[in-house]
Parts: sequence; structure tokens; C-alpha cells
Amino acid sequence: MKNILVLYTGGTIGMDYAEGGLRPVPGLLPSLLERFHRPDLTLQVIEYPRLIDSSAITLEHWQQLVGDLVQHYPHHDGFVVIHGTDTMAYTASLLAFALPGLAKPVVVTGSQLPLVHPRSDGWSNLADALEAACQPELNEVVIAFDRLLLRGSRARKLDASGFRGFGSPNAPLLGEFGIDTHWHRQHWLAPSGEFAPVTPREVVVSCHFLMPGAMPSLIGKALEAQATGAAILMSYGNGNAPEDPVLLAGIRAATARGIDIVNLTQVVHGAVEVGAYAASGPLAEAGVISGADMTPEAALAKLTVMLSMDIDRNERRKRLTMAMAGEADFGGHH
Ligand code: ASP
Repeated sequence: MKNILVLYTGGTIGMDYAEGGLRPVPGLLPSLLERFHRPDLTLQVIEYPRLIDSSAITLEHWQQLVGDLVQHYPHHDGFVVIHGTDTMAYTASLLAFALPGLAKPVVVTGSQLPLVHPRSDGWSNLADALEAACQPELNEVVIAFDRLLLRGSRARKLDASGFRGFGSPNAPLLGEFGIDTHWHRQHWLAPSGEFAPVTPREVVVSCHFLMPGAMPSLIGKALEAQATGAAILMSYGNGNAPEDPVLLAGIRAATARGIDIVNLTQVVHGAVEVGAYAASGPLAEAGVISGADMTPEAALAKLTVMLSMDIDRNERRKRLTMAMAGEADFGGHH
């Protein structure tokens, strides 16, 4: 007998057609879930009082989700979080970092078409998510979507109109749901130490997308003005940026004020590799930390959780160059 808790936050999957477009309908999804009842499966559903389009996700929602997962953790074999697709990769990443030492599956899913649509992808996504949530060796936060099982801390929304909404461009699949289920267990994370959840706090993480033209110095000025928190710099290619004096001065000033800046590539596939090109050197010299092949979603989650912990800056900078939730391959480039 498996005992699975479903946390239903909102998203297209449980919406119905109404005037003005699709809208979440309280009670609809829990009643449709009846279809999954089997003698060897107990499903308990928590439907949140305010079902949201996931574009409206906030820190409070994440705090609630973490709190509920922690509270119910001992009583269930696995968890399914039902969520809109827009910010699903952000929430999956946040949970991956906020639940270190997780030793049970937390499976995030949703759909592109609502369950009430005759061709909804929601039924298969839910079925696959429930199956993953019953795997005792799965010790991590994952996304089950369009027959794929993806590491939460590696997942990205890659298609806003097709059923194949998600991928993990820099990490292997953790499973594939065909006529047979293929669990790629060789890629699953091993359980790591004690379960030590972290409640995310209100922190400032800014993100800056480099573009030719005025952006380098605009970003430099924004970093110069940022008072606290951390920042993400989305640079070119293998982590390259122009040698713009205002940008570099902003990075130096922010870093000196205790603001850690993580360098990610704008490119979907591949990694920041400091030293591959001379153009990545000045950023590193100014104090930017290489985020290797981490996704922007994972970087936001990691920085949010790191800033929510009572650790000092040295420890934080150390952890920013280590994989904490399978989120990146830091190799030798520290
Ligand atoms: N806008 C919706 C949401 O993220 C999209 C979806 O669920 O597919 O809630």
C-alpha cells in the first residue's frame, strides 16, 4: 500500500473554460483524481484555498509548500505537487534546494491542456507523476511531464505551445514513460544526510540579461545600486562579457558589499567555462562566481535558499561552487 499526498496549487490542469478564458475551479481536480483510486494506493489531496495561475507564484506560496511538505513528510511515501507550467521549473528548483536530505519522491506536474479538454495531456502527466511518487529509491524533486521524468533543479520550460513543455538541456532524463516505464536509476541522486529543510526568506536576487548596446553599463549601474542579496548575470556563450568599465565597476562594488554574483550563460545548452575565452576573465577577476551549467531557475532557487540560511559568506561562496541538489556540473572550474 502506497500513501501519496497531492498538493494542488493551481495551473491549467484543473482549470475550466469560463468567460474571459481558462480559470481554476475549486474542487474540480480533486474530484477528477477519483479516477486514480486503486486498492493499493491511498491518495490524500490538499487543495489550496486560492488556486493560482502559476505566473502569480510568490515567496509565500513557496513557504506554504515547503511548510506543508515538511509537516506531512513522515506520514506519506511520496508527494505530487500540481502546479501551472509557467513557473513549474522555478518551484521544482526551489523545493530541490529547500529540502536537502530529502529521502522520498516529490514529483511536480501539471499540463498544457486542462483535464476537461478531450485531448488533455493532464491524465498521462498525473498517472506518470503518481507512479514516480511511488518509487522508494527516488530521493529528489522531479518533474513528470509529457512522458519524461526530469530533475527539478535542471528542468526548464522550453515550449509554451507544444505538449513537450519541459526538458533538462544539461542533464540526462531520470525516466521515460513508454508502454514500459524506464527508470534511469543510474542518474538518480543518492540520499544525502539528514533531512534539513530550509524555509525560504524574503531576500533580493536580481537577474541581468546582457545584450549589446546600453545593457552592460545599465547592468553595472543596477549592481552598483543594489543594497543587499545576490545577483545573476546572464552572459554570452561560455560566460563571456564585454570589458565594459561601468559593468566591471558595478560588479566590483556589489561584490565588495557582500553581494554574490553568479555568472550563467544565456545559451540553453552548455556551460560557463572561465578561461575558455579571454573575454570571461575580467568578470571572474571582478568577483563573479561561475554558475557552470546551472539553469537561471535553479540559480534563483539556490541563491534564495542560501541567503535564507544562517551561514557566513565564505560558506555561501563555497556552496555556490558545489552541486547542492544535482543542479550543475562544476567539474574543476571553481
Ligand atoms: N498559465 C498557466 C500556469 O502556469 C499555464 C499552465 O499551467 O500550463 O498556471
